[in-house]
Order: sequence, then C-alpha cells, then structure tokens
Amino acid sequence: MDIFGLLANIVGPDNVSNTEEELFFYSRDSGAQLPGNVDYVVLPKTVEQVRDILVLANDKYIPVTPMGGGFTLSALVIPNRGGIVMDMKRMDNIIEINEINRYALVEAGVSQAALRAYLKKNHPRLQHSTPEAPPMVTVVGNALIQGHGHISPRYGVNSDMINGMEVVLPTGEICRIGSGSVSTDWFTRGPLPDLPGLFIGWFGTTGVVTKLSLKLYPKPIYRDVMAFSTDDVESIPDAIFEITQLDMLEDFFLIMQEKPDWMNHVIFIIVVSGNFEEELELKKRSFKTMFKKFKGGGKVEYIDDLPPALRKRFMDVPPLAALAADFRKGGGFEYTGAILPIDKVPAAWKKGIEISHKYGMVCSYVHQVLTCHSIMFGFNYSFNRADPVDIENTRKAIEESNRITLELGGMVWKGEVGAQKLMMQKMDPNTVKLVQKVKKTLDPNGIMNPGNWEP
Ligand SMILES: Cc1cc2nc3c(=O)[nH]c(=O)nc-3n(C[C@H](O)[C@H](O)[C@H](O)COP(=O)(O)OP(=O)(O)OC[C@H]3O[C@@H](n4cnc5c(N)ncnc54)[C@H](O)[C@@H]3O)c2cc1C
Repeated sequence: MDIFGLLANIVGPDNVSNTEEELFFYSRDSGAQLPGNVDYVVLPKTVEQVRDILVLANDKYIPVTPMGGGFTLSALVIPNRGGIVMDMKRMDNIIEINEINRYALVEAGVSQAALRAYLKKNHPRLQHSTPEAPPMVTVVGNALIQGHGHISPRYGVNSDMINGMEVVLPTGEICRIGSGSVSTDWFTRGPLPDLPGLFIGWFGTTGVVTKLSLKLYPKPIYRDVMAFSTDDVESIPDAIFEITQLDMLEDFFLIMQEKPDWMNHVIFIIVVSGNFEEELELKKRSFKTMFKKFKGGGKVEYIDDLPPALRKRFMDVPPLAALAADFRKGGGFEYTGAILPIDKVPAAWKKGIEISHKYGMVCSYVHQVLTCHSIMFGFNYSFNRADPVDIENTRKAIEESNRITLELGGMVWKGEVGAQKLMMQKMDPNTVKLVQKVKKTLDPNGIMNPGNWEP
C-alpha cells in the first residue's frame, strides 16, 4: 500500500490529504519566508493515531512537521524537506480545569480563543496567559515556542507555566512528563528531572506533544490602561527598572509608531489590575507619582487623552496591537522577536529605526517587558504580500535585525531557520554538540521537522 493509503488507514480517508489545493495552504505561512514543499497533511484525533503516524514515518524515513495554528510567521511549520505536516487541530479537548490547583490540561489542538472562552464561561475567576497572536493559535504551540502573553510581565513567559505534558517520541513511545508521570494531578513540573525542556524551544524536532498542563492564574475584576511618553530613548532602561520596581503591573508594553505624529515617541503602556477599585486607583496613583519624581521630574509625561481605539486595543485580551502596523496595506507582517537584556534597548531602538528607513518602511514598535528581567523587542516589518520586492526587503530587514540582536547579546525568539543557524554559529561549540546529541537520542532517524536547529 502507498503512504497515502497507510495514513488513511490510521486517521481515516477524510483526515489525510495530498491534493494540490490543500498542500498549497500548508506550504506557506503569513510571514515573509519562502514557501516549502508538503507531500501529505494529516490530522490525527488521538494519541494512538499520533503514535502510529510517527512509527510509520520513522520506519520509512519520512519527515514530520507538527503544526498547531501555524502562526509564528517564521515558517517553523513549513517543511524544509517535504514529508508530512501533522496538523493537531482535531485534538481539541479541554480535558480538565483544576480550579483549586489552578491548571488546565488541554490537548494539542486547543486554541487560545477556545480556552479563554471556556474559562470565561465556567471558571471566570481564572485566566491563562494569552498571547497577542490571532485567537486560533494553539495554547500548546505557543507554550512550546516560549511565547508570552498578557500576564507575562507579571508571571513570566508561557513555557515557565508548563506543569507537564504527554509526548509521543518519533520512535513511538508515549511518555508523560511532570507530576502527571507519577500522579493523576498535573499540578507541578517538579521536583523531578526537568524533562519538559527536551520539548520546549525545539520547534517540534524532538517529539509531538499531545497534551499539556498549563498553570492558570487569578483573574482580577478590574483592569485599566495607562500611558506615559518620553523622547529620551537613553532613559528607557531606568524607566523600566522603576516601573517594575513598583511590582504592580499586569501587562507592560513599549510602543512607538512614526505615524501618526503623536505616536512618534517612546510610549510606556502600563496595564494595572485589581480586585477593588481602591486597589486600582492606588496602583495608578503610584505610577504617576513615580514618574513625577523620575530623574528629578519632567522627563516622562502622563498621556491622559489616550485615543479610545488604542486604549481599547490594550484593554482587550488578546490586545492585537500589532494589527495597527499594516502601513503597506498588503496584510504582510513579520518580526524579529529579539529577547534582549533591558539595558540594550536604546541601542536596539535606534538600529531598528535605521533598518526600517533603509528599506523604505515606517518604523513601528510593540515590545513587551517580560517580568523585570528581559524584553521581547519586536523589530516589526509590514509588507505588501502582492509585492515580491517588498517581501524580499522584509527578509533582508529580518536578517539584519537578527544580526543586531546577537551583536547586542540577545537571542532571536522563534527564529526562522536562518536565525537558528546564526545563533548556533555564536553558540558555545560544546552546547551545539549537546543539542545534536539530545536530538540524535530522541530522533535517531532525523524525521522531526528537519532543518531546524541544525548547525
Ligand atoms: C499579529 C501577531 C502577534 C503575535 N503576538 C504574539 C505574542 O504576543 N506572544 C507570543 O507568544 N506570540 C505571538 N505571536 C507569534 C505566534 O503566533 C504565537 O506564538 C502562536 O501562539 C504560536 O502558536 P501556533 O499554534 O501558531 O504554533 P505553530 O506555529 O503551529 O508551531 C510553533 C512551533 O511549535 C511546533 N509545534 C506546534 N505544535 C506542536 C506539538 N503539539 N508538538 C510538538 N511541536 C509542536 C511547530 O512544529 C513549530 O515549530 C504573534 C503572531 C502574530 C501573527
């Protein structure tokens, strides 16, 4: 029997495809990277089906690329060497919400919107950290790429919120990791050997995660947005230090857009939350007082007339602020997500503007401060999808931003294959060898999303 027939035997003929029209969609994403080739797309429903597909692929040396929402924009779910795209969207059960121990156990295809809506309806006092990404992206895909959501400035990146997972190795073993390996409660990751790290940040190159337990957090009743602005780029690190020193934030962005004029400043967007109105007022007052005193006063202004549309965008979860940056009106958008030390922000700020201007783009920033230790500095580029030159320029701008990121001592988050190679060139050679050893042990036939994390 041919491969299509064998896959159809596992998932049923309606859940596998090799038609040109469907493969077209799976061979590209909405970023600026080049399309790839896909031979089959397959949508499993159970962990046993995932296992059977992997055993088949491993036996026949067919590459497998796991896919959640497919929205990293950096072509991480576009196969580099053809083969199977394993689309997880049919595995969409919310298996358990444990209120007291505050976690959600979800299958790999559960979308951000589905979990959010379910919690809102059934557990309104709890929330999960929701990324700014489109609502159909998966909870699991996001956590596995070390994504960050609307409470990450307060609680940390989303991969830190993982309690454990069920994962299928390319050789077919189904493993449970975290407290779920010794207990029926998926409430904690340790104290155990910290195995989730074998699957976090690996871009699906070590196995397929079928279930994941994610921490939930208290959802305060009140929320509000405040904005402050300055033109002193050099003072950004000190301002971030003072803002985070207050320890009162829920969410925290730095934004700038060269158009309209009033946004052409460094703008601090601070989201505060609380369970009592007085608590919210106290927090807002504290930020105002802090900035009044900052560097002797007069450096940072409070924006008391934040336009309602912008205010709403940051009040919403997810905020979708990046949508504002479609200056080209062609719907294309990609960014280098630089994870930078906070003191390198002024240098990156100036470089990003230079790169945008070099390629005739309007500079637009949405950066998110992650706890008080680092920043996701987005070198954002919008482009017209119908214009090949524009797309090519975006790829060049991304590459330059990747290099600047590394020069500044940062790392590229969810980087495309080119960015991964740049990072591996800079990486300690023994660390590169360790990465290869781990990969070879878990995926001896090299079938999992090949091309990624290869030196
Ligand atoms: C406008 C916009 C704004 C964004 N803002 C944010 C933001 O604020 N925060 C943020 O974190 N991200 C953001 N993103 C980036 C990205 O969309 C999200 O991180 C998204 O959550 C990724 O999830 P996904 O389901 O699309 O993952 P995918 O793209 O499907 O997968 C990501 C990687 O994980 C692997 N993978 C997926 N599922 C599995 C699995 N079950 N087992 C093993 N490997 C798997 C894939 O092979 C791939 O390498 C944004 C994107 C856009 C377009």
